[in-house]
Amino acid sequence: MKRASSAHSHAMSWQSAIFKMALALATISMAFALVFSSSGGAADGKLRVVATTGMIADASRQVGGDLVDVKALMGPGVDPHAYRQTRTDIVALAKADLVLWHGLYLEAQMEDFLVSLGQRRKVVAVAEALPKRLLLSHADYADKYDPHVWMDPKRWAEVVLAVRDALISERPNAKALFEANAAQHLEDVSKLAAYTERTLATVPAEARVLLTAHDAFNYFGEAYGFEVLGIQGISTESEAGLNRIRELVDLLVARNIGAVFVESSVSDRNIKALIEGAAAKGHTVRIGGELFSDAMGRDGTYEGTYLGMIDHNTTTITRALGGDAPERGMTGALAASS
Ligand SMILES: [Zn+2]
Repeated sequence: MKRASSAHSHAMSWQSAIFKMALALATISMAFALVFSSSGGAADGKLRVVATTGMIADASRQVGGDLVDVKALMGPGVDPHAYRQTRTDIVALAKADLVLWHGLYLEAQMEDFLVSLGQRRKVVAVAEALPKRLLLSHADYADKYDPHVWMDPKRWAEVVLAVRDALISERPNAKALFEANAAQHLEDVSKLAAYTERTLATVPAEARVLLTAHDAFNYFGEAYGFEVLGIQGISTESEAGLNRIRELVDLLVARNIGAVFVESSVSDRNIKALIEGAAAKGHTVRIGGELFSDAMGRDGTYEGTYLGMIDHNTTTITRALGGDAPERGMTGALAASS
């Protein structure tokens, strides 16, 4: 018996895909079986929350206080568009009482997994609570919204409320405490919004152009009247073409833009190509600083909180583009810039 070799290899890859899928399902089931057989709820009585991003984990800690034990799957410098759950994550998710993710297709590689997890766990996509009128669409991203809503503190406040409501639904008897904690945190978020508005308004009008590695700053641009340009699109999954780099080099030269920004969760390769391209045309561009676009700063630092992340970005952008901001930011808590 003879088979065409292409048909044969096609059959093999099909079988191997099925095998891989079965293996993934078995891994999830085993993790669940292990957890269910060994425990029933947290020993310390705390609500176990697993959040995908650091920003959502921060909101959960602010609102939940001592009553929650929060774990973030994605740490500093991690790109949420590209992140896939690890085995350790699956175990943590299996143990969680509540899983909070962003949604709006931010966790593009985890979306199917999180949706199916929703059949066995309380799973909430907190950014999807935002009213549609507050969401921006994007030409690159047909029939989806731009997920980067944390860049505008006023929009982020809505996400904090969704986190609060998810915690209340799991612990109704702690409703008053969660409401009080959320109100207190939202007061800080509103102070942050006032600082960002006041500070970014000092950047000269012609310098209000923010050029970064990927399109994470559209909500920022809309909130503060900046033109934002990303080398890559909304998702970091797309490759930036040489044409796009050339186009942006011409724009830097023509508009006399002197500073561009790198992002902590995206490679700086394209930004460097841009700076070299401009230099070849006799225009000097410097790196205005590193921004926290899709992940916060190091755990345990001020920049590793939502307030610190946005304070850092605002202060860095303002100072690099000729505006007026205190070196150590809103409350003097930022790390000194070197
Ligand atoms: Zn992004």
